[in-house]
Order: sequence, then structure tokens, then C-alpha cells
Amino acid sequence: MIRKFISRVLGRKGPGSPGQPAIIAVAQHGLQRDQISRGCRRTIETLQESGYQAYVVGGAVRDLLAGLAPKDFDVATNATPEQVRHCFRRSRIIGRRFQIVHVNMGPETIEVTTFRGHHGEQSGNKAQTDDQGRVLRDNVFGSQAEDAARRDFTVNALYYDPTSETIVDYHHGVADLRQKTLRMIGDPKTRYREDPVRMLRAVRLAAKLGLMIDPAASRPIREMTDLIENVPPSRLFDEMLKLLTSGHAVRCVTRLREEGLHHGLLPLLDVILDQPLGERFVMLALEATDRRVREDKPISPGFLFATLLWNEVLVKWELLQSGGEPVIPALFLAMDEVLDVQAEKLAITRRIAGDIKDIWALQPRFEQRSGKRPYGVLQQPRFKAGYDFLLLRSESGELDHEVGTWWTDFLHASDEGRAAMLLPPQPGEARKRRRRRRPPADSGQNIPE
Ligand code: ATP
Ligand code: MG
Repeated sequence: MIRKFISRVLGRKGPGSPGQPAIIAVAQHGLQRDQISRGCRRTIETLQESGYQAYVVGGAVRDLLAGLAPKDFDVATNATPEQVRHCFRRSRIIGRRFQIVHVNMGPETIEVTTFRGHHGEQSGNKAQTDDQGRVLRDNVFGSQAEDAARRDFTVNALYYDPTSETIVDYHHGVADLRQKTLRMIGDPKTRYREDPVRMLRAVRLAAKLGLMIDPAASRPIREMTDLIENVPPSRLFDEMLKLLTSGHAVRCVTRLREEGLHHGLLPLLDVILDQPLGERFVMLALEATDRRVREDKPISPGFLFATLLWNEVLVKWELLQSGGEPVIPALFLAMDEVLDVQAEKLAITRRIAGDIKDIWALQPRFEQRSGKRPYGVLQQPRFKAGYDFLLLRSESGELDHEVGTWWTDFLHASDEGRAAMLLPPQPGEARKRRRRRRPPADSGQNIPE
């Protein structure tokens, strides 16, 4: 109905007029130019003054129309990357697979992308694809209509011109957004084959915007999840991080499960959702992350992945101990095993892996609450992350509640208060101390002090 209404208002034909976009006026869409960041507006004005077309595009237009604050503002233009660079003193070309220009405007960096061309059979510009049809490389420039057709969902293919305050809409994105539908541009199966990450984007964007995935786009996902295996691990990691730090991680993960998509879609999600023991812990962690994102607080990917994989570590840790491995070496072995498995599918960067290990390695040390040990723990550079992690463990019931409370009190106590809180040395601790003086080769001397 809305589509018809818009078509009528605009006096244009319905879906039967390919290539002819709807030009939607501010009276209909309500998006005003002062909702666009200053840097983005300046970038667009400069390009337009130089005779080029330039629009705000993608996520920012979609989010503003949906009443959300955009993460960033991207610009699309018919100027080539070289031409864009000549318009701005503080700009540089980046990227290989897709060349884009980063324009610095005061504190902002605006991403400027040249309209991309069509790569269908008929155009003769066939993109390089792999055996499954996944697009590997394409840097063909094209018209705005072609650029719109290459975007994934109709709500992502909206071009906003702050000068005229109009939206150029080739695929009924505005109407779809009003009808709360996430609709794929083109044939969903083909689009998923070109880029399997679109399956994850569908779930993430639907959760973020509260949209229903159009059945034509959600139906094929179940049978196509295997294609995710062809996606380079680094890309999968980025997408996973986006999903988990979207501020709607709980909704995304719940949605994936509802749709039966958690199997195969992401190796990590298989792990998370199929362990009832860890589920409460992980959900608490995701809730905390969502809260932090909404409060605009920074998120540590290391902390996030440490929580997601913790249950795996616990299982392996116990197994190794029951096989006779001492406590601490068993933990370190378990940590490495878990991270190795994930590294195959998900490129967890070395730095993040380091953060994850620091957080995990601190956990047994929180249980030692006598003598000088707790003071040593307080001095650890990653103490805060390790402590937050401990609180989640306490809250989820994995650990005695009392341990978390003790540390909270210890953290806030005066010097005398702290001294009074120390527990008498435990028999196990005395043994460990003796061992440390003459450590055998594998006794865990590598525990960070
Ligand atoms: P968000 O920034 O909220 O994560 P987004 O839609 O802006 O979501 P980006 O990765 O910033 O996502 O992409 C910007 C735009 O580029 C999208 O709105 C979409 O038009 C296009 N795009 C991104 N990824 C793809 C893809 N895999 N296939 C087709 N188009 C894409
Ligand atoms: Mg974006």
C-alpha cells in the first residue's frame, strides 16, 4: 500500500519501470540535512561544487529513517577515487579489492566510494568468482543505478542528497523500511552465493532494525549455510564482531537460533548455543555487551571472545585434570587447544588472542585469597577485565557467588580492611609455593605474576 502511495505521489510507474528511481521528497521521508554529520555534508558539498554527484548512502540513511543513530556516514559519488582525492587535501586512497577514499574532515573520517558497475553476464564485466560463485575481485565503476543494484538489501540502497533533501530510491527501500521488511535486491540465492556473508548481514540487520526478513531471503539460508566455509576467516571474524558489538547481540543470537541458523553459520555460535551450561554465562555476557554499546562505552573484543569460548575451556580443562595434568598447566593447554580450533575458521588476531589468554589465565588466581597473592593480582595490567569476567562467572552460577563478592569488597577496602580480609593459607597453595622454588620443566612457571 505504501509503495503504491509513494508511486502515486511521485506520479511514476510501479515496480515495472526498471532503472527509474523514485525521487522522494523530504515531506514524505522526513530526513533533514542537519541529521547528517557536518563532515559528511562538507564532503558532499565539495564534490557537488566540483561538478560531481554525491550522496549519503547505505547504513546511515537506513538508520536515520529507522530512528537510530548511524555508526558512520558513507558517501557515494560518480567521481573516480583519483578525482575524489584531488578535491580534498586531507584524503587518501585505500583498499585493493575495493578502492575507496578516506576524507578527513576535522575529527571525522568520511568514506567515499565511487559508484560500482554491473558485473552481470550481459555487461561483459564479469567479476572474478570462485567455484561456488563467490565474488573475489571487482573494481568496475558504473552508474548510480548499477551501484544500487549491487547493494544487498533494498533498505541499504538509498541515496540521500542533503542539498535537495531528497532520497533516490531504486528498489522501494523506503517502503520496505516502513513495512519493516528486509528484502534482498535480486535473487537471494544468487546473492548469497556471490557473498555468503550476506546471510549473516540479513540476521544482524533484521535484529538491529527490528525487521522481518522477507521469506524469499530467509528460506534459502538454511540450505546454504555451508557456503560460509568459503569465506576468508578474517572477514568472518569482522562480521562476527559486528554482530556481537551491534548493541543487539542477544537479539541477533536469539534470532539465529529461532531461524535454526546457528548451526553451521558461525563455528563459534555452534559452540555458544549448544551448551546449556554455558548459555546463561554467554547470555549474561552478551547482555552486558549490549548495555555497554548502548551506553557508548568501549567494548573489548578480547573480553567478548573470552566469554564466548570459556565453556569450551572449562570442559577441556577438567578433562585434562582428570587425565592427571596439574591445574595450571592443564588450563594453559586447554586455552591453546580452544584457540587453535577457532583460529582455523575465525581469524582471531594475535593481539586479541593475547587479551583472551590474559583474562583466562587470571581466573585461577582469583581463587587464591591469602598472603600477598591478591595484591599481586590487583597489579595485573588486565586486572579489570579479569575481574569483570570473574563477576560474570559468579553471576552465572559457575563459581561460588562469594568469590566475586570478596573481590569487590577487597577492591574497595582500605589497606587495613584488605589485610583483615585475607584468608588463611590453603593447603593447596603451600604446595604450589614449594613447587615454584624448584619448578619441573612443565609446571606452569609461565603463569604471569
Ligand atoms: P552497519 O554499518 O550498521 O554495520 P551497513 O549496512 O552500513 O551496516 P557496511 O558494512 O557499513 O554496513 O556497508 C555499507 C553499505 O555497503 C551497505 O549499506 C550496503 O549498501 C553495502 N554493502 C555492505 N556489505 C555488502 C555486501 N556484502 N553485499 C552488498 N552490499 C553490501
Ligand atoms: Mg556502515
